[in-house]
Amino acid sequence: MIFVIGQTRPFIMPVYPQYLSKEQEDELRNIANAIVAPGKGILAADESTGSIGKRLASINVENTEENRRRYRELLFSTDKVVSENISGVIMFHETFYQKNKDGVPFVKVLQDKNIIPGIKVDKGVVPLAGTDNECTTQGLDGLAERCAQYKKDGAQFAKWRCVLKIQQYTPSYQAMVENANVLARYASICQQNGLVPIVEPEVLPDGEHDLPTAQKATEIVLAFTYKALADHNIFLEGTLLKPNMVTAGMSCPTKYTPADNAQATVQTLQRTVPPAVPGVTFLSGGQSEEDASINLNAINTYPGKKPWALTFSFGRALQASVLKAWGGKDENLPAAQKQLVLRAQANGQAALGKYAGGADSAAAGQSLFVAQHAY
Ligand code: 13P
Repeated sequence: MIFVIGQTRPFIMPVYPQYLSKEQEDELRNIANAIVAPGKGILAADESTGSIGKRLASINVENTEENRRRYRELLFSTDKVVSENISGVIMFHETFYQKNKDGVPFVKVLQDKNIIPGIKVDKGVVPLAGTDNECTTQGLDGLAERCAQYKKDGAQFAKWRCVLKIQQYTPSYQAMVENANVLARYASICQQNGLVPIVEPEVLPDGEHDLPTAQKATEIVLAFTYKALADHNIFLEGTLLKPNMVTAGMSCPTKYTPADNAQATVQTLQRTVPPAVPGVTFLSGGQSEEDASINLNAINTYPGKKPWALTFSFGRALQASVLKAWGGKDENLPAAQKQLVLRAQANGQAALGKYAGGADSAAAGQSLFVAQHAY
């Protein structure tokens, strides 16, 4: 029995069966810490078939299974130097079971580079009835079985994305409770199956709202999220948080500096994310590649308490230049892979607060390469 004191009268809580064994906890903690090792972050390459189709359309490449495979092979066969800054890759189900042109499974291609394979396990957002166009995320049915299989097949971590919107009366209580709870259920199922859950409650940047509004919304969303994780006994040391950086709405007339964004972001995390969480791996959320790197750098140089690793789990902000340089043509492979290395190095440096900017010019690319060798 545990006697809980501090109430008007003590009440008795039953002692619950242990959620995870010591060995399970150690495994999860080690995976999470490896992902957020200094100067490292995640490549989010888990676009669903529809989303990757839009990216491929932008370079006039048809959205076929073979073209999706060719593109992911480009990413994963990039020189091993990329693993100095990319610790993990998130994949979509189809990609997770694809192979390179020599028949080697992508999972093994990554493992051979010391990159940890991860898997997106949610099944997308769906409307939340009775709200102002808000949503929740589906995919809990059969999740335990899917997680067990992914773990057997080499995945060490998972991702589940929830979306919250800033509008006049949102995010609503209903949306925050629901999304926090579904993230906690997902996290619990992942941990029981040996996968580190990346918990992603994304507050979208759409809108005209200012920076303080984005901060308040992100704070309350994260507060709901950590309450739900506590309610579900989640082992925080074996989790990672993937939030939005706190930035003003994309249509906000006021312009803020990276230092402003950094202050709002770090303060938000200080107020809501327990120090037991090993790392925060930000999404890029539609920022340009350079803006995402500069903001991440500012977050890491912001003076204040930061008991977690603060790094990247970028999709668009790691792939935009790669896609452009590739254009679907095999002869552009080296040029495209060079772009990936460049952005990975920039973000690796930003995760250490050592990114000076300018990685998109050839000269800055060179100096980045040298600087990376110092770590
Ligand atoms: P972006 O970095 O493109 O926002 O995507 C990251 C991600 O994985 C969102 O779930």
